Amino acid sequence: MAEHGKTAQANIGVVGLAVMGSNLARNLASREGNTVAVYNRSPERTDTLMEEHGDAGFIASKTIEEFVDSLSKPRTAIIMVQAGKGTDAVISQLADLFEEGDIIVDGGNANFHDTIRREHDLKEKKLNFVGTGISGGEEGALKGPSIMPGGSAEAWETLGPILKSIAAVAEGEPCVTHIGTDGAGHFVKMIHNGIEYADMQLIAESYDLLRRVGGHEPAAIAKVFEEWNKGELESYLIEITAEVLKQVDEKTGKPLVDLIVDQAGSKGTGVWTVQNSVGLGVPVGGIAEAVFARAVSSKPDQRAAVQKTLKNRPEIQDPGENFEDDVQKALYASKMVAYAQGFDAIIAGAKEYGWSIDKGAVAKIWRGGCIIRAQFLNRIVDAYENDSTIATLLEDEYFAKAVADGEDAWRRIVAKAALSGIPVPGFSSALAYYDSLASERLPAALIQGQRDFFGAHTYKRTDSDKVFHTLWSGDRSEIETEPSTH
Ligand code: NAP
Repeated sequence: MAEHGKTAQANIGVVGLAVMGSNLARNLASREGNTVAVYNRSPERTDTLMEEHGDAGFIASKTIEEFVDSLSKPRTAIIMVQAGKGTDAVISQLADLFEEGDIIVDGGNANFHDTIRREHDLKEKKLNFVGTGISGGEEGALKGPSIMPGGSAEAWETLGPILKSIAAVAEGEPCVTHIGTDGAGHFVKMIHNGIEYADMQLIAESYDLLRRVGGHEPAAIAKVFEEWNKGELESYLIEITAEVLKQVDEKTGKPLVDLIVDQAGSKGTGVWTVQNSVGLGVPVGGIAEAVFARAVSSKPDQRAAVQKTLKNRPEIQDPGENFEDDVQKALYASKMVAYAQGFDAIIAGAKEYGWSIDKGAVAKIWRGGCIIRAQFLNRIVDAYENDSTIATLLEDEYFAKAVADGEDAWRRIVAKAALSGIPVPGFSSALAYYDSLASERLPAALIQGQRDFFGAHTYKRTDSDKVFHTLWSGDRSEIETEPSTH
């Protein structure tokens, strides 16, 4: 153990040695040029790491003071503790001991609003604070995650090479880039997780259709997913879906998926994505429906009550020809909508919080290490390389063609699901979003009329730039007016 006042030798430190922190520390120690200091509030976790992996050359400390003394300048410490109060407690301890120019990195799943606040507070103490998203779970932390750091350019100078040394590598490039200042990294990580929710929901809906309409057993559906994983849908999530569907329960011999309680949990980043996107005026229906679908699944009392009341369920439709093909196309088209919505949220967040975010670079660092890693992300890279100012990814040539090619199948699948009484909130909301963008006129005109009727909220006319109000409770004549402020 380092003694208080001992020579500072570590170029990087990790505070918090639970599953993520200890794996990240091991990853750091395995890369040339890094000497890693480690510290955990309860010494038992430090002891376990040293017993099991002490040969990695960690400098372990029993107190935070020793830990800080073991770091070379500028001191750089990555915090991997419980998000929220745990993170604030460790930041406060480090901030008391760190000096001007030192760097505190929060690698936990922080709310980006907290990251903005923390960065602001630490700047006053002349300390650098970097909130960074780290995706890929424990395996990613150990072998190479996708890393989304925010913070200052000054901090990135020191931290960049260290993070590049541990990140996943996709097509020869490390999956890390400086996303933007203060909370930009955690914001982008939040959106990553939101997209992950949408992607998982769409895959789950595909499975449900293949099972209930297609009439296939999980093992056969696993084979379908394995096949899909060889084409444009190739991704980590499709790959693990096949693995889960193949799994047979040892005790009963049944498919494991049939024994898992059908109530999906969540840790909150999907909800944050929806809350923040709605606040920014971005319709992220694909992500929202995925969050809602998990919430509905977790209401057993309501589900049981409705099942008891509504006994006459619709008959399952005949799958017809090319059903699997149709599901695959519906999945791909819906997935494009979900990703387009996610990138819209990134663009809106960047505008609102003053971040300069390179959208293509974000798509690039998601190609490896993280949960939504996929070939498909290269199409997003290409789209923004072609034209970074496109109004929506769906406008890009590749996306437009792919959605148009899948459109008929997509409509057949949504209709078949509705007629069969099978919920496909992801597929149908994505289709409704696409049709909304594609409609020359929307019934929003009527909504504007209703709003003007009951609240004098005013409206614009198609043949004028001015603002109008109809005197609904008077003689119903139209007057030119100022835009409503209420
Ligand atoms: P965790 O279960 O979230 O947190 C446990 C760690 O936090 C322990 O080291 C604990 O120390 C420490 N801690 C809690 N409160 C503390 C306090 N007040 N002061 C000092 N230390 C405190 O650990 P994890 O699963 O490894 O995750 C770490 C972070 O990474 C979290 O923010 C998590 O959201 C994020 N993350 C997790 C994953 C994942 O797949 N698990 C993926 C990406 C990001 P003691 O041992 O002393 O209790």
